[in-house]
Amino acid sequence: MSKRLKPLDIFKYLPKTNCKICGEETCMAFAMKLIERETELALCTPLFDESKYQENKDTLIVMLRPPVQPVKIGTGEKSVIVGGEEVVYRHELTFYNETRIFIDVHDEMDSKELTERVNFVDEYTVFRIGVHLKLNGIAVRSVSNDPAKFAKTVEEILKLADLPLVLCTFDPKIMKAGLDAAKGKRPLIYAATVTNWEDIAKLAMEYNCPVAVFSTDLTTLNSIAITLQKAGIDELVLDPGTYFGENIGATLNNYTLLRVAAIEAGAESVGFPLMGVPATVYLEGDKGTESAWNETIVGSMLIDRFASMLIVHNVELWSLLALLTLRQTIYTDPRIHPAVDAGLIKIGNPGVDSPVFLTTNFALTFYTVKTDLEQAAIDSWLLTVDTEGIGVESAVAGGQLNAGAVADLIKETGLEEKVKHRKLIIPGMAARISGETEDSTGGWQILVGPRDSSAIPKFLKQNWEAEATA
Ligand code: SF4
Repeated sequence: MSKRLKPLDIFKYLPKTNCKICGEETCMAFAMKLIERETELALCTPLFDESKYQENKDTLIVMLRPPVQPVKIGTGEKSVIVGGEEVVYRHELTFYNETRIFIDVHDEMDSKELTERVNFVDEYTVFRIGVHLKLNGIAVRSVSNDPAKFAKTVEEILKLADLPLVLCTFDPKIMKAGLDAAKGKRPLIYAATVTNWEDIAKLAMEYNCPVAVFSTDLTTLNSIAITLQKAGIDELVLDPGTYFGENIGATLNNYTLLRVAAIEAGAESVGFPLMGVPATVYLEGDKGTESAWNETIVGSMLIDRFASMLIVHNVELWSLLALLTLRQTIYTDPRIHPAVDAGLIKIGNPGVDSPVFLTTNFALTFYTVKTDLEQAAIDSWLLTVDTEGIGVESAVAGGQLNAGAVADLIKETGLEEKVKHRKLIIPGMAARISGETEDSTGGWQILVGPRDSSAIPKFLKQNWEAEATA
């Protein structure tokens, strides 16, 4: 779908009967939701059922197709969509499908290591800004060159977890064995190359699976992609090669050229998700900390440069944290400030003498303060002001965090019935509203806390407990 598409462009091809079958009051409302990807064209059943709309339906399907095709890998709850993007840069609209991270295993791993690695991927989660960040799947490499071994490894993985898979071998015989073992699971076939594309294409058709195309030469990559599309395979993922060291510039250049060609030049032959394999950087290095470090750097750069999916080897927590937090930052909708509900919450088991802290409803600030209080085991009250999802310093400057809002919230939450004292600890970055907040709240003493909530325990020792024991 072009980023320049407007609701009216869509509306003119809809039936315009306002029949409400799609769940919207009007065809225009439906058009607006289609633009925002909040509904599906198929919900307009008259368009699909009545032959007089056939041409309009076909036009709309083409108009609404993103320039980077979405491709589904896996089945069921844990399946993932890669690609589906409409813009080159996030600030032009938003990105829709975050970079999916697959961890590699191979068919010479012993059962214990394989089990540990697969379970790790399946269970790994990090909670950040209100979201559980997760890994997405397993990439299985054939290193034995034995079809039976490869198939057995695939079977073993699927018994452990129903995760999306990438089957990695250039040998069609081995790939076929893997596809038999993963029948009905819709793995990504990795990869069709200049030498094996005919056999791989047959397998993709037979097993109805998406295919990754690999070539470090963009002309060849494009030509294989066109050939596969002509053969009727339209769910492709492109891998232009992942290199580090002096070749990192060329690697990033290739990713940029492909994405810009797909979106800005409308080159349909390369309008597919891009994948990177930082695992090669690790496996070609000393396989120690330096390799993990280099793999993390190249993985981060590829998340920045449009990779829709990555295959990664090292599972050091610091490395995964870097990739997942970067991914979360880039794939958060820039049009929406991540916010939590305003109000009053308990941390631990607060009582009438417990301290009361104030923060804003910007999700990152809120969860940071909440986590710091919980980790320090401080029984307390946390008063969260609705600042439209804006952080403390900006909300003070913009007026969203103001004395009136704090006074209103104290009343609305019934805080005065929950504590005996009248002391409110505000963030250090909100110091400039302390005086007016004391005036507005009528009787509340405002204590200016630290700028960083990790310093709250020290602050309490000096300013709260000392006073209580005085
Ligand atoms: S179902 Fe189609 S015709 Fe009916 S209101 Fe929705 S968009 Fe309009």
